[in-house]
Amino acid sequence: MTHVRQGHGAQADCAKEQLVVNAVLSGRWPQGCDDSLVSHAKECMTCREVADVSLLLREDSEDSRFEMHVPAAGQIWWRAAVRARLEGTTAAVRPITWMHGITGAVAVGVLMAVITAAWAVLPDAIDSARTTAMQFLPSAEAASALTSLLKQSLLIAGVAATLLIVAPLALYFVLSDD
Ligand SMILES: [Zn+2]
Repeated sequence: MTHVRQGHGAQADCAKEQLVVNAVLSGRWPQGCDDSLVSHAKECMTCREVADVSLLLREDSEDSRFEMHVPAAGQIWWRAAVRARLEGTTAAVRPITWMHGITGAVAVGVLMAVITAAWAVLPDAIDSARTTAMQFLPSAEAASALTSLLKQSLLIAGVAATLLIVAPLALYFVLSDD
């Protein structure tokens, strides 16, 4: 996984790429921005594709009435999103995309197995927790209340952990799949 971000197949980084993205985001593309930038994009494949995809994304955002006040961090995110789209549509990097997909599927599979295993062990663990609690607590009712509280918080923690793992995966697939 360490080499995935290195080398974008046929894509080469261009120093003017960020300028093109900035111009598109601020509505200065292709009129209103440096003429040399526009003529550069005609010859530079990276900048041309970045401009095309940025325009498309910008139109998407305008359709959804999304306010376009993009801070510096937003531009970095934007550039990553543009990159993800380019990589998703470039045939040369298909194998990498496939590898990502398989890795994601394996990760989900492992996660499911872990959850299933934890689920099987959970009743035993809670039973032993109740037994332990009963030795220290004055009444069985208090012990039961404590263990049901424990059960609830474990369930919530499990759901939260699942969301934490699934959400970035889902985001990844949304950005990379056309
Ligand atoms: Zn360029």
